[in-house]
Formats: sequence, structure tokens, C-alpha cells
Amino acid sequence: MTNQTFDVVIVGGGVIGSAIAYFLSARADFSGRIAVVERDQTYEFASAPRSLGGVRQQFTTPENIKISQFTADFLAGVGDFLEVDGDRPDVGFKKQGYLFLGTPEMETAMHRIHEIQKREGAPVTLLDPAAMSEKFPYLNLDGISLGSYGTANEGWIDPFALLQAFRRKARMLGVTYFDDEVVGLDRDGGKVTAAHLKSGETLAAGVIVNAAGYRSGKVAAMAGADLPVRPRKRSVFVVDIREQIPNHPLLIDPSGVYWRPEGQYFICGTSPKEPDDPEVADDDFDVDHEWFEEEIWPVMAERCPKFEALKVVNSWAGMYDMNLFDHNAVIGPHPEITNLYFANGFSGHGLQQSPAVGRALSELITVGKFETLDLTAFRFDRIAAGEKFLEEAVV
Ligand SMILES: Cc1cc2nc3c(=O)[nH]c(=O)nc-3n(C[C@H](O)[C@H](O)[C@H](O)COP(=O)(O)OP(=O)(O)OC[C@H]3O[C@@H](n4cnc5c(N)ncnc54)[C@H](O)[C@@H]3O)c2cc1C
Repeated sequence: MTNQTFDVVIVGGGVIGSAIAYFLSARADFSGRIAVVERDQTYEFASAPRSLGGVRQQFTTPENIKISQFTADFLAGVGDFLEVDGDRPDVGFKKQGYLFLGTPEMETAMHRIHEIQKREGAPVTLLDPAAMSEKFPYLNLDGISLGSYGTANEGWIDPFALLQAFRRKARMLGVTYFDDEVVGLDRDGGKVTAAHLKSGETLAAGVIVNAAGYRSGKVAAMAGADLPVRPRKRSVFVVDIREQIPNHPLLIDPSGVYWRPEGQYFICGTSPKEPDDPEVADDDFDVDHEWFEEEIWPVMAERCPKFEALKVVNSWAGMYDMNLFDHNAVIGPHPEITNLYFANGFSGHGLQQSPAVGRALSELITVGKFETLDLTAFRFDRIAAGEKFLEEAVV
């Protein structure tokens, strides 16, 4: 088995790993060799293709809002940025907005969060029930006193199209993808030196990047690092109500149940709260059908009578890459293993953060600091320091 040497080895070629590979290989000031090791080239169980594809501006920390603003800019030019041989990718951005519904008890927090979003220039408006009834006449707003609605650059994309577009462009720019699995990392004091692959091959590396999604806790452990990212199962259901509702937003009910249109159907799910959100094996993709019957459908039917009669036409389960510490990403090098970088723990919003995270990692690896957007708040050592960087809007 041949052993090869790369300047950068990225563990995981999902949307995050491929975004990092693209941004790094596109830099004029980086000419190093880049390898991406991906254990499943079909991405059958990766999170991105199983996600809702949601892209929003409505976050609660300035950093996450700024990340979203870059996402919007990137998506506006994605066809140019990721063009390969005249083929301009289309990620199908449906800009129908997110609508967060709030009860009277939630109003104070919603106003506080709205001020943060306004300050950061996020195109978000607060709607009273009368305004909501006019705009979304099919909703039953009993118990709802406020809505927060994104008026631009919010909606959903085709997540697989974005992943494939990053990957194709990265390969065109010279990145080597290995159809293999990283099963061990060599560490020499404060440095990682090589990645061992399941095939028996070893890749010597100047820098190693952990982009292994919900498996990233396991990859960190290979280097002796403790990363509190674990898989959390989310079941998603596609329902047919034999009707389409034009311009329906991605709606987040106060209960946590969410839904949005998907072609002629609707796609829906919910995020269980602790303790109903246990750790699961990372190959447990059994759909939790009782969640639909007991938690999701009753809420949808109550909120919108059009959902009283429906047929489930498809369902699947996917894994959130949950950062158990503070539900926010971990971005940057390990404080003691200085050439091991992390881009993990996106806790359900990693797809939309992939452009900014790819760019940020390319900056850290090439020039050793953030050049465009300061993402220091996501640093690894906040975990050991016990300094939570909380994102309140985790769907
Ligand atoms: C139901 C659901 C809905 C979601 N909705 C949204 C949404 O609306 N908006 C949003 O922004 N995000 C959403 N997410 C979250 C989003 O999908 C993830 O945050 C994002 O995909 C993380 O990207 P990633 O590349 O880190 O992980 P992944 O997409 O999981 O990719 C990681 C890759 O690493 C590979 N890998 C892992 N370990 C190894 C190893 N040891 N060796 C080699 N390869 C390895 C895997 O095979 C995989 O391909 C959702 C997720 C789910 C499950």
C-alpha cells in the first residue's frame, strides 16, 4: 500500500469538508496538496442530503447572522463560483422565508432577538396576528401573538446540489478525494502527523481537518481530543394534502414542529427536547413514526386545517451533528494540537453555514487568522473554559 503526503487532509467530504476543500484550493496564495477522505461517496447517510435545506437569516448571535449574510451572497453567485466546464450549478434557492410563530410568553424574547437581527441588518420583520392572517390566511393563529418573518434571502435549497457542486469544483481545482475511511490519527505531542485509512493506506499530513459531521466526536478522539459533538436522530416526513399553498414559508410552530413545501408535497419534522432526544448509535436510521402520529401531525392539523387529512408518502431519519455544550459550531484549531482543525457541531444548521465555514478554515490554514469574518467566538477552547456561546434559535 502506497503512502502519500498531503499539506492538508480533510476527514469527511460532506458539504463542510467539500466547502473547505473548495475555498482552500481556490485561493491564489495556497498551492499545497489537499486530500479529502470520504467513507461513503454516495453520501447515503451524510446529514446534508437528509436535511431540510433551510437557509435563514434569523439567528440570535451576530456571528451566525453575519455567516448567513455571506451565505446569501455566496448563493447569489453560486453558478459562477462553482462553475465547472461551463456547467453552472443551480441549488434551487426557494426564497419563501422562515416564519417563527410566538406565543405571548415568547414575545419579550422575540423582541430582544429582533433588535439583534435589526442591528446586524437582517431583513426580518415582526408581524402581528392581523398582518399574519392577511399574509398567511390558511393558518389558525389561536394562541399566537407574534410572528417573525424573513423577507429576503431565506428559504431552502437543494442540499445535495450544493454538496455536489462544492465537490466537483474542488476536484476540478486539483483536490484528491479518497474513497476510504479515516480509522486512526497519529499524534506527536502537539501535532497530528498522519491519517490511517481503512484500506491500510497512510496519508502523512501537514494539517488535518475534522469535517466528519455527526461522527466528528469519534474522529477527535482518534487524536485524543474531547469534542462534545454527538449524533441526534431527526425523523422527517413527506406528506401529501392534494393541494399546494403558494408562497408558504418554512414555518416553525412554538411547539418546535416545522414544515415547508416540497414540490407538490410538504416536508415536516420536529426537534425533540431533552430527555426525549437520547444519544443514538450513529447507524440507527430507523424512522420514529410515533413522532409523526403523536407530536407532529396533531400540531400541523391544529395550526392549519388543510393538514387534517393527509397521506405520508415518504419518510427518513437523519443525524444532527449536535454540539452538546452550547448548540453552536466549533471552528478552528485545537488549543494543544495546533495543526488539527475542527469544523463541527453545527447542531442542525451546518448546511447553510458551509460557505462561510469553508472560507474561514481556508483563511486559518493559509494565513493563520480570520481575514474576512471574525469567527473567534466559535473557538475550540471555549469548551474547556466552560464559556458557552449559545445560539438560541436552534430548530
Ligand atoms: C433532518 C435534518 C434537517 C436538517 N436541516 C437543516 C437545515 O434546514 N439547514 C441547515 O443548514 N442544516 C440542516 N441540517 C444540518 C446539516 O445537514 C448538517 O449540519 C450539515 O450537513 C453538516 O455538514 P457536514 O459536512 O459536517 O456533515 P455531513 O453532511 O454528515 O458530512 C460528513 C461526511 O463525513 C464523512 N465521514 C464521517 N466520518 C468519516 C471518517 N472517519 N472517514 C471518512 N469520512 C467520514 C461522512 O460519510 C459524511 O459524508 C439538518 C440535518 C438533519 C439531519
